[in-house]
Amino acid sequence: MRDFSTDHSALALNTATLGHNLDGHGAGWSPEQVIDACAARGFGGIVFWRREIGRRAVEIGARVRAAGMEVVGLCRTPFLTGSEAGTDDEAKAAIDMAAGLGAPVLTIVSGGTEPGTKGLTDSQKRLAERVAALAPFAAERQVKLALEPLNPMFGGNRTCLMTVREALAICDAVGADNVGVAVDVYHVWWDTTLAESLAGARGRILGYHLCDWLENTRDMLLDRGMMGDGVADLKGIRRAVEAAGYAGFCEVEIFSGETWWRRPPEDVLDTVVARFRTHC
Ligand code: ZN
Repeated sequence: MRDFSTDHSALALNTATLGHNLDGHGAGWSPEQVIDACAARGFGGIVFWRREIGRRAVEIGARVRAAGMEVVGLCRTPFLTGSEAGTDDEAKAAIDMAAGLGAPVLTIVSGGTEPGTKGLTDSQKRLAERVAALAPFAAERQVKLALEPLNPMFGGNRTCLMTVREALAICDAVGADNVGVAVDVYHVWWDTTLAESLAGARGRILGYHLCDWLENTRDMLLDRGMMGDGVADLKGIRRAVEAAGYAGFCEVEIFSGETWWRRPPEDVLDTVVARFRTHC
């Protein structure tokens, strides 16, 4: 297992940690301000959200690399299942944006249960069909698609994938080299079969997302904890992720409407670096 106590070059910032994934939250820094602040602190990479990028993908990607970092990923496709599912054209536009940025990975949050169906099975089949249809388009653009299972409390409207095991089963069904999974501490910390599931990942882990699970979570979407403030076994999860072959960036992704999004971004970034070295 890698030692981050004196080296945080594997640390990446997901800009959601500064509130940039939702309107009306965070400090509203420009991508350039985020890039400069991360570079100054020795981050290795950044993950952006589509809403920050607009038509500036190529320019922002170049700016990140000029600052000595990598664009680690882009969040995310529109939902592919459920009543709020986006179109193929919208999903392809997200893939094109990732390619423009030079982001190797585009995250997929599946979307919820398909209209007119119950449970998860039909929706997972539909998800596999849609991902299979998008995978060649993404491969032509050197973009990998990372299926991110979400904590089961997001079932219904946001996800039909609740465990790493289910996400890997979709990868098997799709059978494309550029489709894998993203493992997010917030979504998997409770899963006592995680290590066993990850052992079957065979190189298909495309991302590892860090935060913590607060003992008293007040808001299921917007009350993620800073690493070290909660009850997730961060080192244990990383040990399992790395044992499955993952050696990529560790992406800090903290949605925190009432706590971290209200703090000065400089303080948040300093805290992320310190906690990454001591708790992750
Ligand atoms: Zn995540």
